[in-house]
Amino acid sequence: MSKIAENLQHLKQTVPDNVKIVAVSKTKPTQAILEAYQTGHRAFGENKVQELAQKYEELPKDIEWHFIGHLQTNKIKYIANFVSLVHGVDSFKVLKVIDKEAKKHNRVINCLLQFHIAEEETKYGLSKHEAFEMLKSDAFNELRNVSIQGVMGMATYTDDQLQIRKEFASLKTIFDEIKANFFANNSNFNIISMGMSGDYITAIEEKSNLIRVGTAIFGDR
Ligand SMILES: *Cc1c(COP(=O)(O)O)cnc(C)c1O
Repeated sequence: MSKIAENLQHLKQTVPDNVKIVAVSKTKPTQAILEAYQTGHRAFGENKVQELAQKYEELPKDIEWHFIGHLQTNKIKYIANFVSLVHGVDSFKVLKVIDKEAKKHNRVINCLLQFHIAEEETKYGLSKHEAFEMLKSDAFNELRNVSIQGVMGMATYTDDQLQIRKEFASLKTIFDEIKANFFANNSNFNIISMGMSGDYITAIEEKSNLIRVGTAIFGDR
């Protein structure tokens, strides 16, 4: 078995069945993705539009592609026809453009709202206030070609496990509040995307049900 297949198998044996694994293949060649694909894995994540569009062209069409990076509005059109889930919706403006581009392809694009839970300034994301303002607006309720399926967040890059745990717990709280206020009767709003190679165990303990794992599957970048 290849190292990649071995890592993936180990990961699948480690995490509970309800936790979905997105294999983050950014910077990795198509061959590495195929090694994971051949084990039956289908969900892959990329953070650059151009790289994602190119890999989509080259690889089997039953791959489920997740966009996990910061999305610029002028680039959404390059992935709108095939992307399976956009994790990083960090502004109303981006969401509106996703809706517009999805409409051109007669699709509904699944999205997660990204929240800023880390201490670091550099990480993108909405505040809870911004999300509430958006979700209660008429303009939001008029969007027909996006489906909000949950939340996504990244913890601070630190060795402080307690801090990481606190940040993940804060995302779970935001998820619960948004669910109760806006999606109480919508079972599609059910994804909590948090946890990467270094912190997925903590993330799952704090109720993540989707982890985005790169290094622990494909090795160092
Ligand atoms: C790169 C990346 C990951 C995966 O990181 P690893 O540490 O390699 O597991 C997860 N989420 C996002 C948003 C990323 O950019």
